[in-house]
Amino acid sequence: MRSLVLIGHGSHLNGESAGAVYRYAELIRERGLFDEVVEGYWKEEPSLRQVLKTTASTDVTVIPMFISEGYFTETVIPREMGLGHQGPVPPEGVARVLGGKTVRYTLPYGVHSSMADVILERAREALPDLGDEGTPPTALVVLGHGTTRNENSNRVVYENAERLRHTGLFAEVEALFLDEEPKVGLWPERVHAPRVVVVPFFASEGWHTLETIPEDMGLTGAVTEFPENPHGPQTVYYARPVGTHARIAEVILQLAEEARGTGGRGGDEDRLHAQAWSAFMTMARRGMRVGEVMITPQLGMFEVRHALDEGIPGGDLTTTVTPEGLRDQTRRDEGGHHRPVHTLRNMPRGWRAVLSEADLPRAMHALYPAIVEEGYAHQQHALRATPWATTARRQTGIYAKVQKATPQQVENVAEDVCSGCLRTRLWASEQLAHTFFDGVPGAIPCAEACTYLVAEVREEVSGKRGSGSGH
Ligand code: SF4
Repeated sequence: MRSLVLIGHGSHLNGESAGAVYRYAELIRERGLFDEVVEGYWKEEPSLRQVLKTTASTDVTVIPMFISEGYFTETVIPREMGLGHQGPVPPEGVARVLGGKTVRYTLPYGVHSSMADVILERAREALPDLGDEGTPPTALVVLGHGTTRNENSNRVVYENAERLRHTGLFAEVEALFLDEEPKVGLWPERVHAPRVVVVPFFASEGWHTLETIPEDMGLTGAVTEFPENPHGPQTVYYARPVGTHARIAEVILQLAEEARGTGGRGGDEDRLHAQAWSAFMTMARRGMRVGEVMITPQLGMFEVRHALDEGIPGGDLTTTVTPEGLRDQTRRDEGGHHRPVHTLRNMPRGWRAVLSEADLPRAMHALYPAIVEEGYAHQQHALRATPWATTARRQTGIYAKVQKATPQQVENVAEDVCSGCLRTRLWASEQLAHTFFDGVPGAIPCAEACTYLVAEVREEVSGKRGSGSGH
């Protein structure tokens, strides 16, 4: 049995941030090579602290869904997942045994050598006759962001440019950058060929690929003519970013296979995880309420809906039949705002999901990530709370300043933020005698301050948090 975990950055504000990781998880799930594919995030749920608990097997491969190495892949992710590793990840990855699970942490997908093939695919999409006999000489520009506080992206851009130089498909290959030398604006002096294909080595379509790159290069669309350049007339073909190419799913699978090496038959079922879900499914088969939702067994299927929509005819609600549909239905509150913390009491109404028994766990994972595993562990007296001081001490980078927060500041923020949350703060010594496993729907433990609260405490310490900036 094998679990694959894809780690994304996520966002407290932007509901689209997790979209690429969702999409790749779905693509890989369809391939059926792993028993499960689970997503985890720095700024959404399931959090990096929780995600290993949500995996069903004892053989877990963790892939950071980042385009380059840097602060997140080398510091934040290994630290938050408890991998006992900091700093550059070796090419063979990092393997640890954590809580009875063998966890293999790999390099980010963007540094894998097969990314050169993805660049090539993007170049061919922009310029379909690339490499055909009789076509004019073509230059390739691999365009990177450049090294920032959080990313060391230039090395991988140079490496890919070098690999692609050897294909013989291009008259010249240049690595150019937005934020470091050689800068992208220099392209008319550096590139000589009459045709130039530009491939952004970026994770997603966004401000840089849609605005700053076209602006710096003088592009007006997918194809732009430059009749008066220093080396003669040139035509630029602008490709889409590499990180959104469907082939990234192949890169992820290759990384996972390499991390496994000769890793044998895979793992076993995680015992505590299996017990938690068995207890949950027993309750679901009888009908139950958990958090803001109710689950009703119906002819071998399960109907999930907002508990406040009880009694509304099914035809008056928007019906979805997949866990992904349910996830998308509940990603925003009634006002259209992103919900990075799923246990905040702001789940929208007006929907119902009709799900098979096989799909119900994944649907629950989308609705309330990690609460089954943590709720059951709490009921079994096996959930360890992490006090605020420990969480604060662990923070680095821009979040290190939360270490300066006074207990009163933390409490003020928590009163504002956590009062809108179903969870009970075990990390602040609040007591939770029962859980939803005992029939109390809103009784959900919070073992550790979430990153949303940490971010709000940082705002408080910085003096930027106005009253009512919580919920
Ligand atoms: Fe909810 Fe507060 Fe826990 Fe965050 S820290 S999950 S807001 S109880």
